[in-house]
Amino acid sequence: MKFLSQALFVLLLVFVPGRLAAQGNHAVRGADERFKVDILVVVAHPDDEAFFTPYLVRAINDLHKRVAVIFSTRGGSGANHDARERGPSLANEREIEAREACARLGISKVWFLDGKDTATQDLLDSLANWGHGANLESMVGLIRLTRPEVVFTHFPGVFIGENHGDHQATGVLVTEAFDLAANPIVFPSQLAGDTKQHESYLSNLQIWQPKKIYYGSDADDFKQFAGSGPGYSVRETSPALKKPYWRLALDSAMAHRTQFPDDIERISKMSDEQLEKLMSDPNTGWWSEPLTLIFGKSVVGGAPTDDVFANINPGPAPREAPARKQTERAALPRTELVLGGPWQFYAQFRAAHGLENLRQASTPEIGVKAGSTLMVPLVIYHADPNETLKVNLKIETPDGWKVASGHGELGLPAESSTALRVEIETPTLAVEVLKKAVPLEVTVHGEAGGKSIGDVKLRVLLRANALPQ
Ligand SMILES: [Zn+2]
Repeated sequence: MKFLSQALFVLLLVFVPGRLAAQGNHAVRGADERFKVDILVVVAHPDDEAFFTPYLVRAINDLHKRVAVIFSTRGGSGANHDARERGPSLANEREIEAREACARLGISKVWFLDGKDTATQDLLDSLANWGHGANLESMVGLIRLTRPEVVFTHFPGVFIGENHGDHQATGVLVTEAFDLAANPIVFPSQLAGDTKQHESYLSNLQIWQPKKIYYGSDADDFKQFAGSGPGYSVRETSPALKKPYWRLALDSAMAHRTQFPDDIERISKMSDEQLEKLMSDPNTGWWSEPLTLIFGKSVVGGAPTDDVFANINPGPAPREAPARKQTERAALPRTELVLGGPWQFYAQFRAAHGLENLRQASTPEIGVKAGSTLMVPLVIYHADPNETLKVNLKIETPDGWKVASGHGELGLPAESSTALRVEIETPTLAVEVLKKAVPLEVTVHGEAGGKSIGDVKLRVLLRANALPQ
């Protein structure tokens, strides 16, 4: 007993002054807990949050998780299907629609980055048009502010499907921010404490490592991702709300009037039974059953198909930096032809961010509008950057396609790599023919000094409509 009372006395000596100080006039303020979330969703455009909304309804109402949503653009491009406004005015309307859609889910923390809606399939176009650096800084700052346990975003990769450059750019930006937000030398002004009473420039945030990242894909063939992450039923009934998850997700999506007013009109007149039928039919339903969240990576271990919150103890995570692998390029100084553009970028990106296991198309693929010019971006790495190089490119195309430029003998300057492109005119085909179209292969054979320097293959699906490359 005597020992115990001595121990208590020592404890009081140690801790009481600290506690008193914390209650005094000089209490140091902690983080604003209103802005701490469990899930941070980052998507490209107003209405893209619907990738995840059936799961978010579950997380908010039945798992009592806190959610914030960030849109990387305000969606000012594209058509206004409902009224006259375009461009910047359309973006103003879409911001309000997005806030309304989130409010219907109970989400009030909604931010917009400064990305400009960029209508191409090339993520590099989007990043260039947005200003990659400034938006990455904003993204890292919002992760440090909201301190999410998990992050949901678009899949960084090229697939036949909507394949919007803004979606991919968002996935890339968020993956970069996931890896950077806990690094104290990255955007250090966000982490610096006050230097004066009314500090205006320094943010006084702290480093933060989200624990897991998941992706949603807009590939036409979504079934290929089954089992690549946890699947959650869209059709189950929420115990708290007594309605199926899809129903609440649908109610939220109805806020996007400038995007699909006809659907909204039609759906709002349907009975519960008609809606149930529409949404449970795999051909007309808006969400696959189950909804798969594609596992990106975890800093707290676990298997890809584990529950989103498995292994997660909320709070700051000590973190080991992921191993940064050098790409094979550095180790192999040989002349080599590879697919350039987004594909070259992703090869390096996956290695740098520890995402080698992320699924990719077995042969690179893309969907383009029939009758448009297909561009095949190429890069040739030079074995000797100090010598000029002669190469010969031969192109194989499907019947009826015409190589317009980029083939034959090419003299390359002395440099370490050269970016080239081959242009191929694709045929205009009737809509009925396109409905049955399958992807066809284009091959570029490269030779230098009479030896092969590699073959590049691209599977191309001609479609009635597609964003420009
Ligand atoms: Zn979108």
